[in-house]
Amino acid sequence: MADETSTHRSDSRSERSESGPRGPRTGGPGGGSSGPGGRKFFRRKKVCKFCTEKIDAISYRDVRLLQGFVAERGKIVPRRLTGVCTTHQRRLSLAIKQARNIALLPFAARF
Ligand SMILES: [Zn+2]
Repeated sequence: MADETSTHRSDSRSERSESGPRGPRTGGPGGGSSGPGGRKFFRRKKVCKFCTEKIDAISYRDVRLLQGFVAERGKIVPRRLTGVCTTHQRRLSLAIKQARNIALLPFAARF
C-alpha cells in the first residue's frame, strides 16, 4: 500500500504588494448645490389642505391653487404626496381637468 502523503506547502504571503499608487480620490464636490434635475418635495401633510381650510368646492378657475397639485409636467400629484383626502383629491382632479380644457393648465408639458 502506497501511502502518499503529499504535503503541499503553500507559503502564502499575506502581504499584498500594492500595485499602482493610490491616486487622489476624485470625488464629487462636497457642497451639494442645486442640481439640474431638482426634485420637488412636498411637505408631508397628513391633513387635507382643503379640509383644514374648509374649502368645499374647488374652483377650476383657481389656477394658482390647482398648480400646487400639478407636477411640473402637468401631471396631477398623487394624493400620497399632497396629503389631500380622497374626496378633495377627486374634486381637485376634476377641477384640474376642467382647467386643462380651457387651457388654464397644461396637459403634459414636454421638454
Ligand atoms: Zn379634504
